[in-house]
Amino acid sequence: MRVAHFFRRRAASSAQSSGRGWPAVGRMLWASPCSAIGALFGGLMLLGGGSLRRLEGTLEFALSPRLAASAFGRWLPFAAITFGQVILGVSHDELARVRAHERVHVQQYERLGVLFLIAYPLASVLAWRRGLCPYRGNCFEVEAYAVDDGGDEEGSSDRDEVVDDADRW
Ligand SMILES: [Zn+2]
Repeated sequence: MRVAHFFRRRAASSAQSSGRGWPAVGRMLWASPCSAIGALFGGLMLLGGGSLRRLEGTLEFALSPRLAASAFGRWLPFAAITFGQVILGVSHDELARVRAHERVHVQQYERLGVLFLIAYPLASVLAWRRGLCPYRGNCFEVEAYAVDDGGDEEGSSDRDEVVDDADRW
C-alpha cells in the first residue's frame, strides 16, 4: 500500500512539473500577443498609481484606490477583464473575488492565442443570432460561469446574478 502511495505521489509530482516545463512556456508564448495588450493597459494603470501582483502564472493589475473610487472607477462596466495571462481589475479585492472566472479566460487565451480576440466576439454574435444574451450566451462565458456556479456555496439571488453579469468579462 505504501508503494502504491509512493507511485501515486511520483505521478502527481511529475504531472505538476510538466505543467511548469515546456508546455507552460508554450502556453505563455501562444498567449503572449494578448498578454502584451493587457500589459500595456496594466502599465498605464501603474502610471496612474495602480499596483501589480504576480500570482500562479498570471499578472494581476489593480487601479489605485483613489482612481477606483473616482467617477471613472465607478463608470467601468466590469470588475475585471483578462488579456492573455494578464488580468486587469478595479482592486485586488475584486480580482480575488472573480479570480476563478478570469482564470478560465486565461486558459481560453492559452488554448486559442490571438484567435481568441476574434473567436470571443464571434461567439457573442452567434449567441445573439440564436436569440441568447450576447454576453451570458457566449460559449466562452458559459464555460467561465460554469466554474463560478460550481464554486458558489450559498447560491445567489437573482439580483446578485444581475450584478455579477455586469462585472466579469
Ligand atoms: Zn467572463
